[in-house]
Amino acid sequence: MEAQRLRDVSTSLIRRMFEIVEKAKREGKDIISLTIGEPDFSTPVEVVEKAIRAMKSGYTHYTSNLGLEELRAAIAERYGVSKENVMITTGGSEALFNASLAFIEENSKVIIPSPTFLSYFTYAKICKARILEIKTHDNEFVPNVDKLSEMMGKDVSVIFLNYPNNPTGAVIDERSARAIAEIAMDYEAIVISDEIYDRIYYDKRPTTLADYENVVVINGFSKSLAMTGWRIGYVVAREDLINSMLKVHQVNGVCAPAFAQKAVAEVLLNGEFEKIVSRMVAEFRKRRDYVYGELRKLYWTVKPEGAFYMFLKVEENCLNFAEKLIDYGVAVTPGIAFGSGNEEFIRISYANSMENLKKAVERIKAYHESKTS
Ligand code: PLP
Repeated sequence: MEAQRLRDVSTSLIRRMFEIVEKAKREGKDIISLTIGEPDFSTPVEVVEKAIRAMKSGYTHYTSNLGLEELRAAIAERYGVSKENVMITTGGSEALFNASLAFIEENSKVIIPSPTFLSYFTYAKICKARILEIKTHDNEFVPNVDKLSEMMGKDVSVIFLNYPNNPTGAVIDERSARAIAEIAMDYEAIVISDEIYDRIYYDKRPTTLADYENVVVINGFSKSLAMTGWRIGYVVAREDLINSMLKVHQVNGVCAPAFAQKAVAEVLLNGEFEKIVSRMVAEFRKRRDYVYGELRKLYWTVKPEGAFYMFLKVEENCLNFAEKLIDYGVAVTPGIAFGSGNEEFIRISYANSMENLKKAVERIKAYHESKTS
């Protein structure tokens, strides 16, 4: 029998969309998928070569639970903290799960902005917390600080933040982000600040909240180095908070792949990291400008300032829209995958070639015209 803690956790939406797309492909339809949650680029050769070298020289065993010293030190330097404040995890997801188990008290309240990355809802449910959603649709997809302040109480254990945001691309301004960290501090709540898209931004530079005592920063290299399959994430936090998360990590991720840690440490230390990221972001910027420029003519949205997503109000039930768009040859993610209030929204990911994006935009226009004519 499935344990009760999983009662409200569902995989049906993702499965349903996957099945719809697979069925269409089996029927020979040409589908362009704008559902992808990872860069479409291959992992840079600089990283691959270093990993092969590391494997050949024996980086194929456990590392310390906390991670390779050299990688922790390289990350710590970027944040101006000590390596004791950094723990390497098997991807950002493991870091999020560790932080959730470490800091979400059973029956406490957890504040989650909507729309946002669905996993936070799952973590809160597994931890048997009560979820308070703060809708951000009328505030450019970032939480209104006054509204959040009104929701606070001593029974709030955790606030999740994710900027640049999945699925909207919104970047919170520094003042609001800091105000939220401070409000949380007044109530002794932890902010889990998922900054995994921090390197993928366009004009508005994202802020890190790593300098707050009550903030656990989640990050990793899945997105910034296009290496989702390698599973390298990390947390930056106060040392005693790291120790709490270590209690989970030691039995959960245990350690991230040694050769992958070594390769990332080397590209961080020799400066290649910055070059790789700029290359990728320059490409994403072109796509963002194109897709935003075209689709904003059809649907309401907020200009994405980071990540590689855009959230569109399609004025139609999102499941219907997504299913019907398959007939036009485009797959998108229905908004209900990102919290409540998103029933008429869809997410598109522009982590796809310009050629495919152009075709997809034409197909979306054709569907839009079929509805309005
Ligand atoms: N956080 C956000 C907001 C994400 O969108 C994702 C992946 O899509 C993750 C975390 C997980 O990343 P990782 O592959 O490092 O587990």
